Amino acid sequence: MSIKDTAKALLEKGVATGDEELINLANELLESLTPPKPSKKSGLDEDYIAPAKNENAQSDSQGRRAKTEPIDAKKRENEFVDDGTEHKDEVTPDYIPSPRGRKAFEKVKVVCTRCNKNLDVHPVHKRENYICSSCIKK
Ligand SMILES: [Zn+2]
Repeated sequence: MSIKDTAKALLEKGVATGDEELINLANELLESLTPPKPSKKSGLDEDYIAPAKNENAQSDSQGRRAKTEPIDAKKRENEFVDDGTEHKDEVTPDYIPSPRGRKAFEKVKVVCTRCNKNLDVHPVHKRENYICSSCIKK
């Protein structure tokens, strides 16, 4: 019989006889046997944990939480006044801009696979089975 069983037997005997001292003794013995709960210690510092979300927020059917704070829909006035003082210290560097030499795109001829129409489209839209915009709606 282990100490735990003995303590339990003592507790049962104490309850049966109504001996409070025996019950207390058995409880103390049982408590001494159970290992102390490991202190909850995560590797993260409290400062690095994101603050808890609004506990009052109601989750919707997909578990997302909706914002409960109302959106301020009042008419606001732009208080910015351009007095010419902003970014006065910034100077545009003296440089020669690189030439813009890219050629303008040329439309390519495609045939719609549904209506067999010949169309001129931007090259990015060229593909093997081209479907024109009026056929794709159908
Ligand atoms: Zn078509």
